[in-house]
Amino acid sequence: MQGTVAALLAEIVGTSAIDPSGNPGVIAVHPDGEEQISQICRLAQDHKWRLVPRNRPLVQQNSTPTVVLYTDKLVGISEYAPGDMIVSVRSGTPFEALQDSLRTKQQMLALDPVCDSHATVGGLVACAAYGPSRVGYGVLRDMVTGMRVVRADGSVIKVGSKVVKNVAGYDLPKLFIGSHGSLGIITECTFKLRPIPRHRTLFALTGSATEIARIYQEIMRRALSVCALELVGAPQSSPSSNSDDWMLLVGSDEVADAAQALQAQIQAIDGRVSLEIMQNSQVAEFWNRYRQELIPAATVLRVQMAPTRMVAFAASLRQVLSELGISVKWSLTLSEGVGKIYGHDRDPKNVETLVNTVVRQCQSTMASSVIEALPPEFLWTQPMMQSPRVRESELRLMQQIKDAYDPRGIFNPGVYARGM
Ligand SMILES: Cc1cc2nc3c(=O)[nH]c(=O)nc-3n(C[C@H](O)[C@H](O)[C@H](O)COP(=O)(O)OP(=O)(O)OC[C@H]3O[C@@H](n4cnc5c(N)ncnc54)[C@H](O)[C@@H]3O)c2cc1C
Repeated sequence: MQGTVAALLAEIVGTSAIDPSGNPGVIAVHPDGEEQISQICRLAQDHKWRLVPRNRPLVQQNSTPTVVLYTDKLVGISEYAPGDMIVSVRSGTPFEALQDSLRTKQQMLALDPVCDSHATVGGLVACAAYGPSRVGYGVLRDMVTGMRVVRADGSVIKVGSKVVKNVAGYDLPKLFIGSHGSLGIITECTFKLRPIPRHRTLFALTGSATEIARIYQEIMRRALSVCALELVGAPQSSPSSNSDDWMLLVGSDEVADAAQALQAQIQAIDGRVSLEIMQNSQVAEFWNRYRQELIPAATVLRVQMAPTRMVAFAASLRQVLSELGISVKWSLTLSEGVGKIYGHDRDPKNVETLVNTVVRQCQSTMASSVIEALPPEFLWTQPMMQSPRVRESELRLMQQIKDAYDPRGIFNPGVYARGM
């Protein structure tokens, strides 16, 4: 079977653009552009192969022939208008390379997800990636103005536009953001850009869950203008912190005067917390260290709930996990009611305990949980998404959308809610 699949693919891309992958039933293919991707999609649809757009190795968990479609040849900026602050970029372009190019014009894509240097623009869009700066800059759904996508029948569609003012009608790019490769292969994305801030400040407040929750509420009550409000576990290297402490990171990308006014407001909030203030390169170094600590995680779980409940939820979950001997890292975007829990332990028993505990804790508090990453060798047969808020009628509608874009279910089957 693998030989036939490889032979058919070789007719499109040539033998040098195919790797057997060493994984039974999985063939990796490296098309050089949209035309080849279209032909591969048509072939996959005709033969009902699984087609997985991906930029890193895939561990096969079922016997359906699987073609892993790498976007590593779809690289580079196709159009950049610094004056309009708009860039169109091919989907296999590494995110870091895009930011390096934009930096030459003092511009950036205002996105700071936890990802390694291999992460691509298309992969990040497909995952709806975000980081702490979503509080100030919004999420990818606010930044993507247009996209080119290859559908299951091989047709190439352009959704949205290359200008900020979008065409009238349904905002289709939003459908593909966070679709995890289940609706089509993204080949190009157009983004709205932001200027790189001239001054950056980060306030790190460390204290107990009760104190941090009170300070967070005070920041919200005073409607302070901030670009990050992230809750992480207090670093244990600090002599003043204890193991139950949390650190609230309050970011500002405003000019120095505004940052000073914010500092005065934060210092005026009475609380038993320690305060550290970082500026410019210290801020960049801090976030870099934060990312480097999280990247090696094997398990990533996303939780969502009402913002006001997040600190108490995290404190109680941390207590339960610590009683089970499970240690994790936290990154909770308080004002957005969304957070990630990172487990570095690869022991299958501990991974299972972590996932089950988080899912149960969410269920008992009407919060949602999504499994974003698991160790590749770990077999998980439960749904990846547990949300008490997604109704049956919504799931039916999602299935109809999936059927419209991918009627034979070739794209990444099972990656999304309800096996879609
Ligand atoms: C340890 C760890 C921590 C993480 N933490 C965070 C975090 O804090 N915040 C966050 O937002 N994300 C997080 N992620 C997700 C991560 O940022 C993205 O998975 C990753 O950056 C995307 O990498 P990639 O380009 O190699 O895509 P891959 O990992 O290869 O693919 C990711 C998904 O996107 C799909 N995909 C890839 N390219 C395309 C395309 N061109 N068209 C359609 N679908 C496509 C794939 O099918 C797959 O479903 C984490 C992941 C890991 C493993």
